[in-house]
Amino acid sequence: MTDIKAIDKQYVANTYARFPVELVSGKGSLVYDEKGKEYIDMGSGIGVTAFGIADEEWQKAVIEQLGKLQHMSNLYYTQPCAILAKMLCEKTGMKKVFFTNSGAEANECVIKAARKYAFDKKGADYYTIVTLENSFHGRTITTLAATGQEHYHELFQPLTPGFVYAKANDFEDVKAKALENKTAAIMMECIQGEGGVIPLEQDFVKAVADFAKKEDILLIFDEVQTGNGRTGELYAYMNYGVEPDLVSTAKGIAGGLPLGAALMGEKTEFSLGYGDHGSTFGGNPVSCAGAISIISRIDRKLLDEVKAKGQLIKDTLTGAPGVEAITGMGLMVGIKTVKPAGDVVNECMENGVLCLTAKDKVRLLPALNIPTDLLMKALEVIKAACA
Ligand SMILES: *Cc1c(COP(=O)(O)O)cnc(C)c1O
Repeated sequence: MTDIKAIDKQYVANTYARFPVELVSGKGSLVYDEKGKEYIDMGSGIGVTAFGIADEEWQKAVIEQLGKLQHMSNLYYTQPCAILAKMLCEKTGMKKVFFTNSGAEANECVIKAARKYAFDKKGADYYTIVTLENSFHGRTITTLAATGQEHYHELFQPLTPGFVYAKANDFEDVKAKALENKTAAIMMECIQGEGGVIPLEQDFVKAVADFAKKEDILLIFDEVQTGNGRTGELYAYMNYGVEPDLVSTAKGIAGGLPLGAALMGEKTEFSLGYGDHGSTFGGNPVSCAGAISIISRIDRKLLDEVKAKGQLIKDTLTGAPGVEAITGMGLMVGIKTVKPAGDVVNECMENGVLCLTAKDKVRLLPALNIPTDLLMKALEVIKAACA
């Protein structure tokens, strides 16, 4: 048998500390390794396979598009891209969408749109973007700069200038940082995902939104991880009753195909004009066809099920031996464990459940449609591993 692990170790760049498991196939929320061992998938990639593996409706949409047109340059109109943009705008009230291939690229786009808006409105020196400490916005040199975690920065200097970090849930600090600098935008994740599944407080988000509006500073939400139904609303900002000027998203949007989107509101819909931005693969018709299948099915009923399953996770794990706290919203869950999170994840894997970590927490991002019986079965394994 070909030793895939050895080949991978030799030839794939050394950037991923992989688990010693080779996954070969799956169906829904179940995945199988090369020996045929079954796992319940509580990570769905990292919140990517929104309706699980090989979901039939999604697969049909993707295969149908593959048979028609797998790619066309953005010099021409194509149907899936236009239909998906319309769907996203109608469901959010945003005005325009720019499609990308990844979360980092979606963030690059909202950052460019924000700087262009401020350039046009206030002048070239209004380029600062305030982000939060402990945030995560991506791996490119600019989105690393946006990421408010020093240890991501150290080895890659100089990063793109113009980013300033404020304390999460500290409105006075955000306000001070925004006023000390010539600020174009404030950018936040409603729930800091990579930072440890930490939701922002309601009052803080509302205060920032009101302040930003008053000062004509743009409000950007990075919904790369929290978006597309993950928290029990289509986008997590909808849990907070605020209206952003720009939203970036990716991960779950196309059910497992590479796609990102930058959503632009009333203020910013015309910020980027002809030639100001582009992407060869962005808005790929196959990815967009997959995304239409996903986004069209994220309705109130599904979102309420996401909330109910999130509550079920909380109810099952709260107070369990070895569990200190549960954080998150909907099916974006952090578990603060007494044991090191990595040890819990390894034990779960041995017992047929795939989980993620985020900082010191065990992180769960299961498929939005994970069947309740599988979810309960996984929770029993997780509970035992935490004890
Ligand atoms: C994953 C993530 C990104 C980066 O997305 P990529 O697709 O890996 O570039 C950016 N922001 C947040 C909040 C994320 O969770």
